[in-house]
Amino acid sequence: MSRKEIENVAIVGSGPAGWSAAIYAARAALEPMVIEGALTAENQEAGTLPMGQLATTTFVENYPGFPVGELGTYLNTALDEERKCVLPPEAFGESGERIGVYGAALVELTRRQALNFGTRTIEEDVVGVDFSKRPFELRLSDDTTILAKSAIIATGASVRWLGIPSEERFKNNGVSACAVCDGASPRFANRPIVVVGGGDTALEDAEYLAKFASKAFVVHRRDELRASKALASRAKSNPKIEFLWNRVVSEILGNDESGVTGVLLANTLNPDEPPMELETSGVFVAIGRRPNVGFLKGSLELTEHGCVKRTVPFRTNTSVPGVFVAGDVADDRYRQAIVAAASGACAAMDAERFLAEF
Ligand code: NAP
Repeated sequence: MSRKEIENVAIVGSGPAGWSAAIYAARAALEPMVIEGALTAENQEAGTLPMGQLATTTFVENYPGFPVGELGTYLNTALDEERKCVLPPEAFGESGERIGVYGAALVELTRRQALNFGTRTIEEDVVGVDFSKRPFELRLSDDTTILAKSAIIATGASVRWLGIPSEERFKNNGVSACAVCDGASPRFANRPIVVVGGGDTALEDAEYLAKFASKAFVVHRRDELRASKALASRAKSNPKIEFLWNRVVSEILGNDESGVTGVLLANTLNPDEPPMELETSGVFVAIGRRPNVGFLKGSLELTEHGCVKRTVPFRTNTSVPGVFVAGDVADDRYRQAIVAAASGACAAMDAERFLAEF
């Protein structure tokens, strides 16, 4: 993809915020460059793959404009042939089937829309930045540097793990943070699985996994869910989902050959009680996300929760003039695709105004 000597706007990140910023910047004739991220094992492990968190969810029911319908026909006509294979077959549905939009399909459509208006892309990670001088410098994983008059940070957030040693040992051998990526594996078929967390992700994962597993146990550290009422009532009425309240996973049991075989669950109300042992073929961790700010290495001010700080109320400005922020990397409250997409549009408009005065 051809690069400019100095880009007008470099957009870092390829989730709904990044692509939405690109659509707006491209339509403002800024010819944006999106640094999409690299498809590496490290990014898979860290949960920072291109196309963001949305691409790892199943059906997205709350994104406006996508009621159930014959999505397969739309996807087949809107997307390039070589990108269709990125999507799981379920995203297209059976011929004539009316389905909702898959997370990965939604991001692919947004990407295509940005490209249609002249957005350019690079499939590398940004590994460092220098925002202390103009033009800004963004160092990439292929050892090249992008110079840019403005930048939009839209790197999202990544998986929060439990942080116990046995979790590390069994990652990719029964421990996962992506139900959609791993749930259909034969290792979980007709066997019990555990989902940790009490938020929307945990319940959505449990519902998805219950299709394959004999039973999905939701282990939550309290006796009250954080999840929305709609998801909670659906999960509670699903006979294949069982809640284990006031429990945390204190250890994951197993061996190198079979992977995960069970968990020990501590009682959060009575830590002295001996942990309960539960047989399971897998542990799906769904306890929230962490903003992806490592590559900034202190170049932008952060909030107390580790998000990029927005320095002007209701705007996308950061602590560096000319650097704007969008999506979950700056949002520890809403964390919704629609909110991320909207903030991407705002960031592009703020960048456009900044460039007009550059
Ligand atoms: P979340 O809402 O932050 O929930 C995280 C859950 O994990 C909470 O129940 C929390 O317990 C628990 N938890 C956190 N740290 C833990 C630890 N160390 N050990 C055990 N449990 C721990 O995260 P999320 O479920 O990923 O959702 C993120 C955002 O995406 C939310 O805004 C959600 O609404 C949205 N989302 C929406 C949909 C949808 O609309 N279909 C689907 C998925 C996600 P406490 O409750 O005790 O804090």
